[in-house]
Parts: sequence; C-alpha cells; structure tokens
Amino acid sequence: TQRVFSGVQPTGNLHLGNYLGAIVNFVKLQETHNCIYCVVDMHAVTVPISVWGGPDELRRNTREVTAAFIASGIDPKKQIIFNQSQVSGHAELAWIFNCVARLGWLNRMTQFKEKAGKDRENASVGLYDYPVLMAADILLYRATHVPVGEDQKQHLELCRDISQKFNNDFSESIAAQGHDGPYFPMPEPVITGPATRVMSLRDGTKKMSKSDASDNSRINLTDDADTIAQKIRKAKTDPEPLPLEEKGLEPRPEADNLVGIYAALSNRSKADILTEFGGAQFSGFKSSLVDLAVEKLSPIAGEMKRLTTSDLTYVDQVLADGGERAGVIAAETIKSVKDIIGFVHKR
Ligand code: ATP
Ligand code: MG
Repeated sequence: TQRVFSGVQPTGNLHLGNYLGAIVNFVKLQETHNCIYCVVDMHAVTVPISVWGGPDELRRNTREVTAAFIASGIDPKKQIIFNQSQVSGHAELAWIFNCVARLGWLNRMTQFKEKAGKDRENASVGLYDYPVLMAADILLYRATHVPVGEDQKQHLELCRDISQKFNNDFSESIAAQGHDGPYFPMPEPVITGPATRVMSLRDGTKKMSKSDASDNSRINLTDDADTIAQKIRKAKTDPEPLPLEEKGLEPRPEADNLVGIYAALSNRSKADILTEFGGAQFSGFKSSLVDLAVEKLSPIAGEMKRLTTSDLTYVDQVLADGGERAGVIAAETIKSVKDIIGFVHKR
C-alpha cells in the first residue's frame, strides 16, 4: 500500500516556494493517497536559537504552518496533520538510523555545508544529523511517496540508502520476525509541478528560502496585497523584454523564475505564458503577476490569519488529534524494529 509523508519546518516566513514546491502537491496527493503531513519542529531547532526564535516563536510558527496546511485545503479529518515532537518514535528511530548511516554519507550532504557556512565547528550536531532524522520521519510511517521541493532530492537519496542498508543488515532477522521481503520501503521523491525550485526574487541563482536575511527575496504566505505588489515590482530582472519562446529563458534565471511562478500560480505552461507576454516589457508582466499572486494567495493568508487569531483551539486540536493517530502507526513500527534489532521490550 502507498502512503505519503512530508514535513515543513516551523521556522517562520513560510513562502511561495514552500507553497508551490510542496504544499500544493500535498493538497493534490490527498485525493489518491493516505497522507501524513508533519510540522517538523525537531528539525527547526537544529539552527541557532537566534534563528529559530525561542519557545514563543516556535509555538507561534508551529501553529502558523498548521494553519497554512489547513488553509491550503488539506483535510485534517481524512489526513494526519501533527507536529513531530509529539511522537517520540521520530527520535527513537533516528538513533537507530544513526547507527546504520555512515559518516561518509552525511559528509556529502550539500544542505549541511550551505547551512553551516564557514563556521562549521560551531554548527549543531543536530544540523549535521538532520538527514538521518528526516529518514526516520519518513520510514517511521513506512511511507512510499514523499512530496518535496528539488532541494530535498539528496536527502531522499540518503533515506533510501538507510532503508536499503537496514533491510540488508537485518535481512535474516526481518525474515525471522515473519515479514516477507524487506521491512522498510524505498520511498520515492515526488518532485513535480512547474515550480519545484522557486528562486529568490533578489537573486535568480539562489533558492527562495525562509532563512534568507532579505524579506524582499521571498513572498511570504502571510504578506498582504501591498507587500506582495512591492516585492514583485522590486524583483530583480534584466533589461530585455520577455522572450517569445521558453528556450529564451534559459540564460535568464530571474526572468525564468518569474515566468515559472506565473505558470505555476495559473496552472498553465511557461510556453503558454510566453505566448501571451513574449516581447512585452517586465513592467506590464509584473503588474499581471501581482494581480494573479494576490488573487491566489490572499484567500490563504486570510484563512491563516483567522485560524491563528480566533481559532487557535481548533488548530491545537488538529495537532493533538493528528499526533495521536500518527503515534499509533509509529508505535507499531518501533515495536517491529525493536524485535528486528533484538532490543528486549514489553509485549
Ligand atoms: P530553510 O531555508 O530554513 O531550510 P525552507 O524554505 O527550505 O527553509 P523547509 O521547511 O526546509 O523550508 O522546506 C519545506 C518544503 O518546501 C520542502 O519540501 C522543500 O523542498 C520545499 N521548498 C523549500 N524551498 C523551496 C523553493 N524555493 N522552491 C520549491 N520548494 C521549496
Ligand atoms: Mg529547507
């Protein structure tokens, strides 16, 4: 059977890249799959406290991401929405996977290198171990499909490596415990849609990111219409008019990004957008993009605001209910894994 798992960090500044690269696909997949969507608060605390903002900020951001899931159309009754720290199995399985994953594998992870920056000695051990916890998040539910943005591809490969090594290392025990075939699945990344990598509005070679110091680099899901308009008008472009064909976008990352955003928000292809705007100046195109972005994003922002200001009890209830349901699945996996490894436990 197929199961979807994915997570979003409660680190604030939820942006258009998170929405188009991940959340839009979360909403689609619920029509065909059982889905578990997790606010990964244990991942959020891998960066310095000054970055994740401390306890009050973490609580606020956890509820905000939850509200974004609900406001975007994920049904918390049919699917599971919860925050990671409520289910202890994530940490338990991560420890076991720490003993499966190899240092050499983690040393290749580019996200750690980017996020640790120059001061690597001062990065948290958790930041280094992030991909192992992520593998545990996914495999704790034996998920088969993981909708993510392009930037998570390498972490998904590591998850598959961990799954495979666990299955190989313990193959005899897995069979002895009565499982036929490998215990963990090989989760497939679902990296689809026209916006798997939304770029910064200030630099077409960098991905749009929560942690970018410049707020003008991203459109936040909570931005009001004026802010969205300002950011799009200020977005970096080149002096040429828009190209007539998609090929013409290749050497122009900023133009490519804006056309890609337009295409994604309107559910049309980039080629189609260029049929309409090719040869035009950016100013006119940007005005249309502002209208489109405001039309698509403001209902979500409005509902997020309503949930986080006047319906917090409901938001917390969704997390508590989701945590309970996730916990049942997780407990089963942890029990089986303990049996497979040989950890003695209460039956
Ligand atoms: P940070 O920079 O702090 O890691 P983030 O913006 O990458 O923050 P995450 O919570 O790490 O946010 O990622 C949530 C989901 O959004 C992941 O599936 C990730 O691949 C996706 N995502 C993040 N940024 C982009 C982007 N620019 N374009 C498309 N998808 C993205
Ligand atoms: Mg990220």
